[in-house]
Amino acid sequence: MIKFNAANEIQDLQYFGEFGGVNPSISDSSTYTFLSAKTMFDTFEGNADGCYLYSRHSSPMNLYLAQALAKLENTETANVTSSGMGAITSVLMQVCKSGDHIIASRTIYGGTYAFLKNFFPTFNVDTTFVDINNFESIEKSITPTTKAIYCESVSNPLLEVADLRKLSDICKRNNLKLIVDNTFSPLSISPKLMGADIVIHSLTKFINGSSDTVGGVYCGTQEFINDTKNVNTGACMLLGPTMDSFRSASILKNLRTLHIRMKQHSYNAMYLAEKFEKDGLKVSYPGLKSHKNHELMKSMIHEEYGFGGLLTLDAGTTDKANELMELMQTENLGYLAVSLGFYKTLFSCSGSSTSSEIPEEERIEIGISDGLIRFSIGLDHDIERTYQKMKECIQKVGVFEQHTTSIL
Ligand code: PLP
Repeated sequence: MIKFNAANEIQDLQYFGEFGGVNPSISDSSTYTFLSAKTMFDTFEGNADGCYLYSRHSSPMNLYLAQALAKLENTETANVTSSGMGAITSVLMQVCKSGDHIIASRTIYGGTYAFLKNFFPTFNVDTTFVDINNFESIEKSITPTTKAIYCESVSNPLLEVADLRKLSDICKRNNLKLIVDNTFSPLSISPKLMGADIVIHSLTKFINGSSDTVGGVYCGTQEFINDTKNVNTGACMLLGPTMDSFRSASILKNLRTLHIRMKQHSYNAMYLAEKFEKDGLKVSYPGLKSHKNHELMKSMIHEEYGFGGLLTLDAGTTDKANELMELMQTENLGYLAVSLGFYKTLFSCSGSSTSSEIPEEERIEIGISDGLIRFSIGLDHDIERTYQKMKECIQKVGVFEQHTTSIL
């Protein structure tokens, strides 16, 4: 792995408030005054560096946050948006125009899947969904109109890991852009170092980490970000998913502790995954040797941040999964809620929530079974205690009897 320490890069960024505050001041304005009409015109045209015009175009706090996230992903620059979907759709609509084609992993977040499958075709952009590590089928899917390969570095919810180096190689040979959603693995994986052109995050998840806001970012070259912000042709400028300055201020403050949180999320998830596996449960976690992409992910991560905070358990049926989740919530082990990256463990049944946009036959084919519970493991101080309490819940519900003659 190439030596690159995003946490140091972010730490070295200093921003002060206008009165010497240790946090930058929030610019509480949607519009900005000018002393001369000429400067206003130049700013509108993008030719007056350092001047602000209107907060959908840019605002000081959004630029601070974007700069810090560009450091995180080692890209020239970045642009923040009001949601992860705002980032994803802006990028895709900038890269693909009517008549174009895109290749996407078949295991991606349900909202992204729905956009590509249902919404994009109405703009005459078609998607071929592929097994993201079947390089032969990817190469075969490339047509003269293909513009990009889209994937998640660690997929939602199946935790499949994309071989970004190989995908980048295919993209380079075929003049395609590699677009990677890195929401599940901030700091652990640096897609740009493995050849990604554009890196996206839903900031709603680990990066903000406090489940109090939605937000997104895309990171890339100055040229690409400028294109998306062009007042005449920029997808983000014209679709308008602008982040509010108050929100970017709070996300920037939370970003300061991301390196500590990611280590703890990964440590706790690894602990539980190993215990569950020993107990004979159907657990999937890329940190386990039994995970089909374990070696691949090991070769891709910055080790100190581990394999991430997500794991899945197959409870066999939706009813069993629901019963277990409700009991764990009653026992205060976490919340029955979608999303991820919170201090508290969150669990949900993917097939009937965040992946419900994917038709049932396709869900079954790719392995999202009815009883699959996705856990976003929290920052629990005493994970051994959490494990013991979870084990009691599992025993009480008898969830896994159909899978195992386990010791539970
Ligand atoms: N990407 C991934 C991997 C996600 O899990 C999600 C949401 O769950 C999104 C993107 C969309 O982000 P947002 O909800 O912030 O729009």
